[in-house]
Amino acid sequence: MMAGICGIFSQGDCAKDLVLGTHYLQHRAQDYCGLILKGGEKTTGGTHKGIVKQQFSVDNLYGNYGIGAVSGERQPLSELSRAGGFVTCFDGNIMESDKLKDRLLKSGVSFSGYYDLNEIKDIALLSKIISSEAEFERGIERLLAEIKGDFAVISLKEGKIYAARGWGRKPLILGRKNGSYIVSSESTSFENTGFEIVRDVEPGEVVCINGEGIQTVGNLNIQSPKYCTFEWIYTAYPTSIIDGVSVSEVRKNMGRILAKNYHVDADIVSPVPNSGRWHAIGYSEESGIPYEEVFVRFDYSDRSYTPGEQSARDKEAKTKLIPVKSSIKGKRIVIVDDSIVRGTQMLNRVEELRRHGALEVHARIACPPLMHACMYGKTTKKDEDCIAQRISIEEIRKTLALDSLEFATVRDLEEATTFSREKLCLECWN
Ligand code: SF4
Repeated sequence: MMAGICGIFSQGDCAKDLVLGTHYLQHRAQDYCGLILKGGEKTTGGTHKGIVKQQFSVDNLYGNYGIGAVSGERQPLSELSRAGGFVTCFDGNIMESDKLKDRLLKSGVSFSGYYDLNEIKDIALLSKIISSEAEFERGIERLLAEIKGDFAVISLKEGKIYAARGWGRKPLILGRKNGSYIVSSESTSFENTGFEIVRDVEPGEVVCINGEGIQTVGNLNIQSPKYCTFEWIYTAYPTSIIDGVSVSEVRKNMGRILAKNYHVDADIVSPVPNSGRWHAIGYSEESGIPYEEVFVRFDYSDRSYTPGEQSARDKEAKTKLIPVKSSIKGKRIVIVDDSIVRGTQMLNRVEELRRHGALEVHARIACPPLMHACMYGKTTKKDEDCIAQRISIEEIRKTLALDSLEFATVRDLEEATTFSREKLCLECWN
């Protein structure tokens, strides 16, 4: 499950910063949002279906510390146990969650408020495991031992906020301003709230944030941590810096690499907006071919990647881009996109370009052919959805009616991100 999570501990009321910090993660999920604030006369906030901007007003929120989430399921979730009361939100995925539910139930754990086992979501499993230990850091240790998958988690306890990162595929970053501290899935939460980056939470690290600052309270020995390569290529916001590397720079690097390795004579380079934009800028800079957008993304569309149902995603993807006819007619066009899953969106785009008079259409793709669904909750596609599972690159080119088609390689991903393949999760492609 994709989510964006944020937590703030502040000297004064942090409601406005928490609403904004969580709002700026909205690209990660749009189904549910939730905020919980403490430190005032009473706890304020709650969870809602929909997006932060429409569901929360700072007028009804108060507290000097709190956590927030945008997510595919309802969170944060509160739990009362021998560890005390705490409220948790997480970004991640638990594989084989049915087996885990079974194990937990057999070991005596009970879940209330559910009529059906299927209703028990990952956040409830994660919360039960963490709260089974008296100390948060021991709970994270148990989580790492008990689950398959990956996670980043933020928990609010009386007078403090805990944050932890699993094996590294889920980003989590720390910031500060004037005695206030923030932890968020992405540093894009910091820009318009005035926070500065302190550092990333390391894979396996548990931190505690309170009035005294940020302290590491646990460092679990993670063998071969992995960063999600797709965060830089597609998922994260271009203004974010993840594990010390700028997302927009990685995308431009990848565009430059594609231009060097797969040059083609053309009149314009255009992205499939918005996600292909920075890759296309890099391609244009390196090749000298002018950058011009042949599709405009309609501002009121959702991100087609995140709606839960395939039919909703297809509908959204089909209507979100509007062609700029005057930029297309009579041109040889290089289209740059982040990835190809089924190929249906690219086919629609190519057909539109040809219909509006494009002379040639070439595609350059910023990652290798996708072969697998993400097991860590980043995408909703299935293995069998991936066109590259069934046919060769040349057959994909013919199916999509392209004049040429080239994909980046794993080596290009290493060069663009500056990380060696040992540190990158490449399971989408391997
Ligand atoms: S499988 Fe792909 S999307 Fe999932 S964590 Fe790995 S690189 Fe990221």
